[in-house]
Amino acid sequence: MSQEWDAGRLDSDLDGVAFDTLAVRAGQHRTPEGEHGEPMFFTSSYVFRTAADAAARFAGEVPGNVYSRYTNPTVRAFEERIAALEGAEQAVATATGMAAILAVVMSLCSAGDHVLVSRSVFGSTISLFEKYFKRFGIEVDYVPLAELSGWDAAIKPNTKLLFVESPSNPLAELVDIAALAEVAHAKGAMLVVDNCFCTPALQQPLKLGADIVVHSATKFIDGQGRCMGGVVAGASEQMKEVVGFLRTAGPTLSPFNAWIFLKGLETLSLRMKAHCANAQALAEWLEQQDGIEKVHYAGLKSHPQHALAQRQQRGFGAVVSFEVKGGKEGAWRFIDATRLISITANLGDSKTTITHPSTTSHGRLAPQEREAAGIRDSLIRIAVGLEDVADLQADLARGLAAL
Ligand SMILES: *Cc1c(COP(=O)(O)O)cnc(C)c1O
Repeated sequence: MSQEWDAGRLDSDLDGVAFDTLAVRAGQHRTPEGEHGEPMFFTSSYVFRTAADAAARFAGEVPGNVYSRYTNPTVRAFEERIAALEGAEQAVATATGMAAILAVVMSLCSAGDHVLVSRSVFGSTISLFEKYFKRFGIEVDYVPLAELSGWDAAIKPNTKLLFVESPSNPLAELVDIAALAEVAHAKGAMLVVDNCFCTPALQQPLKLGADIVVHSATKFIDGQGRCMGGVVAGASEQMKEVVGFLRTAGPTLSPFNAWIFLKGLETLSLRMKAHCANAQALAEWLEQQDGIEKVHYAGLKSHPQHALAQRQQRGFGAVVSFEVKGGKEGAWRFIDATRLISITANLGDSKTTITHPSTTSHGRLAPQEREAAGIRDSLIRIAVGLEDVADLQADLARGLAAL
């Protein structure tokens, strides 16, 4: 006898459940097939029962899918799960993290608007603002991340958005997100936080007062270096504009990548705890070694914003940077001596990565800009993965021996 499904049992009741339960279950709408895992919907378009049904759905008079550039059930499950985890009214997925940033600015800013960006943001984010948004009449200024007075002083009557990454890459500087949101709101601007380094498992910027969160899901949300994607989350009022831009312009997420990210989110908390524990152990060990001049990690007591990080984040993240003796030559010898850790600029992967920021991610900056940003030639960044920490330490010891 076939099993009769009780429709009331197909969706989970998630009222009042905790983060880790949402990470596993939010956003799933089971079909009458009763599948336990989330199905992948590989379809470009959707059929209508009648011509009148098609007209009503196109007009938005009745809910339902029309075309996968607009909505797709697998992508929607991912969006609803992220919205639940960030505490957002709504989230929308994008093809990459950069597409998420593009969508926010294109949908919320117009020519003549002014945007303030923290100095230490991701390299492609700076290129997007400098090379493209400026061409369309958006004014852009850069502000050091940590100092609230600098932000306040830089806001102009036409300032629409403040855009920050906290913690910053690679030096792990922070800004007090709640205080910065107040600074922005007092002058009628919105605060956008790129939450890629922490993920909602470690930091929920909307709950601290930010208006919009963006992610590169390519990093810790996938968590295994396989798929590219992004997401924007915030209040429905702003998200309506972002969704409108994405549906029209097209950088939406593929259902396959959404399905991978749904799997990734189920282990997000566990993975972030393990990343943080490995990073903390390596940062503490590096700080003790001859040959290391300075370690930048918010989990260290020596970090100037350690207390803020404890208050604002549930963990200190996976990115550790350190300065070695011997300048650029020393840094390159250190990197080349490692055998296990991958030499690549990516992060948020289960595989630990190592990079030399001043000649890779920050290589486009002029020497004095790099100096101002604190990116010395002796600086190395590791994005700590999930390998056994003793093996990682042994590999870093090879680097130290080569200095
Ligand atoms: C990688 C990254 C991005 C861009 O994301 P993509 O998925 O590569 O487009 C944006 N912000 C931060 C902080 C990143 O690390």
